[in-house]
Amino acid sequence: MTEPRVPPLLQMALRVEHDIFVIRQRGREVAAVVGLEHQDQIRIATALSEVARDLLRMSGGADVSFRVEAGVDGRFHLRAELAPVTPLPDGYEPQSGAVSRLVDTLRVSRVEGATVVGMSRRVPANAPTPTPERLAEFRAELGRTAPASALDELTAQNGQLIAALDEVRSQRDDLAVLNEELAETNRGVLALYNQLTEELEETNRGVVALYAELDEKSAQLRAASESKSRFLANVSHELRAPVTAIIGLGRLLTDTASEPLTGEQGRQVELIRSSAADLLGLVNELLDLAKAESGRIEPDWAEVDLRQLFGQLRGTLRALATRPEVELVVEELLSPAVLRSDEVLLGQVLRNLLHNGLKFTERGEVRLRARQSDDRWSFTVSDTGPGIAPELHERIFEEFYQVPGATRVGGTGLGLPYARRLVTLLGGTLELTSEPGRGSTFTISLPVDGA
Ligand code: ADP
Repeated sequence: MTEPRVPPLLQMALRVEHDIFVIRQRGREVAAVVGLEHQDQIRIATALSEVARDLLRMSGGADVSFRVEAGVDGRFHLRAELAPVTPLPDGYEPQSGAVSRLVDTLRVSRVEGATVVGMSRRVPANAPTPTPERLAEFRAELGRTAPASALDELTAQNGQLIAALDEVRSQRDDLAVLNEELAETNRGVLALYNQLTEELEETNRGVVALYAELDEKSAQLRAASESKSRFLANVSHELRAPVTAIIGLGRLLTDTASEPLTGEQGRQVELIRSSAADLLGLVNELLDLAKAESGRIEPDWAEVDLRQLFGQLRGTLRALATRPEVELVVEELLSPAVLRSDEVLLGQVLRNLLHNGLKFTERGEVRLRARQSDDRWSFTVSDTGPGIAPELHERIFEEFYQVPGATRVGGTGLGLPYARRLVTLLGGTLELTSEPGRGSTFTISLPVDGA
């Protein structure tokens, strides 16, 4: 059982050519009355007149009816049905494509046993709900408007065509404006891109130039450092002979076999000798450092027996530990301890550090300790001396630097830079931890198996 259909809003007959115009016009009126928008009114009216033309040609006419029905989507639809007066040829499809796009649905179906061509268009949600009362009003309203002549309809159609053309033209104009704006934006983007590329290239050129300058400067620096080492080496070498001669001459003058000197003369000659000995010490240190810096010192790699080396250090340094308030401790190594290194160079470094400790410590102790952990040996020379402020920890490794205000105990400021050079040559590091008033600890770390 199907529910009885709502009565049509309007019914018309299609029999002659002129009816096509009337159907078109009335279709538009019905669409307007039920609340379809202007564009939709024209769409459904156009679809109607196209299908009507088909049916007049193929079936000699049709009965046309309009209804408002609720669809499965719960919304209202204006539905037009064209029931052909004679059966349509088999397989007739209402014009698809352009025409079917004008409406929501367009298809041939069977309604109450008869074949009809139906089309529908959705009524906008904001249109008044078509209650039975409203529908009755619609019917009355449609009854009042009389169909106009074909000429009127043609005029109206012309007007609509002009409006549609106008709209197309204005859309085309809008499009042209948009295109122009797009082109403008593109030009802007391109200009920005070019500018950025140029800036990037400029920056790159700057960086390249900077690097070239940097390379040049470091080459100059290397050259300067090399010539400084060469100069130091040459000067020291040239100085050694005359200074040694002065010392020898002094010794000759004070020799018992020589003419005896007066007391004052003896003191003067002794002063000359000790100054010359200081100078020779400085010259020798300079020469050592210059040699180490120019890479002319080649470590003589061999197994170094640390117990033996420590024994030697104990012996040679005892003579330097002249203060009774300072104890020199070279810790015993309990088990055989060996590493691959240069015994002479390592001995020189340790002696230098221990000597510094003894020089600067007034009471307490100076201690040498060696420890092995994994593949490294670490040697620490610690003292209970004045200590060194943290900001000077690197400076004291610079040539000729001496901590200002420290007790004047002589020296050249070349010992530590030389020691660090040698440790580097041996493949290790030399670091300091110290604080004023808390003594100093110099730590040498060396690989067990040499560089
Ligand atoms: P030098 O001992 O001939 O002056 P170094 O290069 O051996 O030169 O040392 C540089 C300076 O570092 C020293 O003059 C001294 O001021 C400081 N210094 C070195 N060792 C110690 C130490 N054990 N305790 C305190 N100050 C030290």
